[in-house]
Amino acid sequence: MAGSMGRRPGSKTVTSFEDRVACYDAMVDGKEADECWPWLGTANRHGYGRFFDGAKYRSAAAFGYEAKIGPIPEGHEINHTCASSGCQNPSHWFTDTHAVNMAELRDRNQRNKSAGHTDAHGWVQS
Ligand SMILES: [Zn+2]
Repeated sequence: MAGSMGRRPGSKTVTSFEDRVACYDAMVDGKEADECWPWLGTANRHGYGRFFDGAKYRSAAAFGYEAKIGPIPEGHEINHTCASSGCQNPSHWFTDTHAVNMAELRDRNQRNKSAGHTDAHGWVQS
C-alpha cells in the first residue's frame, strides 16, 4: 500500500539504527534468494533506490549493504551482479572501487548503445 511507510501511528522521529533497518526492510520486496528484490521506495531517475537514513538521503543499496553485510570499504561503492539498478538482494551486491565501477558502466553502455538505450545511470557516450 503506497504511502504507508514511515508513518507508523504514534511514532516519533525514527532515530535508532534498528528502526531505520526496519524501514528499509519494509521497502524491499523480498523474494527468493536467487531473485532480484525490487526497491519499493523512492528512486532517483536512474532507478537507484533512495533511502532516508534519518539524516540524509542516500543509496538504498549502500544503506542495505551496511545493514546486512557490513561497512563499505573505503573508496568502494555498491555494484550489482544483476542488471537491476534498484535490486536490494544482498547476494546481488558487491563492492568495487569507483574507477572499476565506471569502467564497467562504460562497457555496459557500449553494449547498450546498439540496443538504443542508455545504461542504468542514463549516461550516453557520444
Ligand atoms: Zn538482483
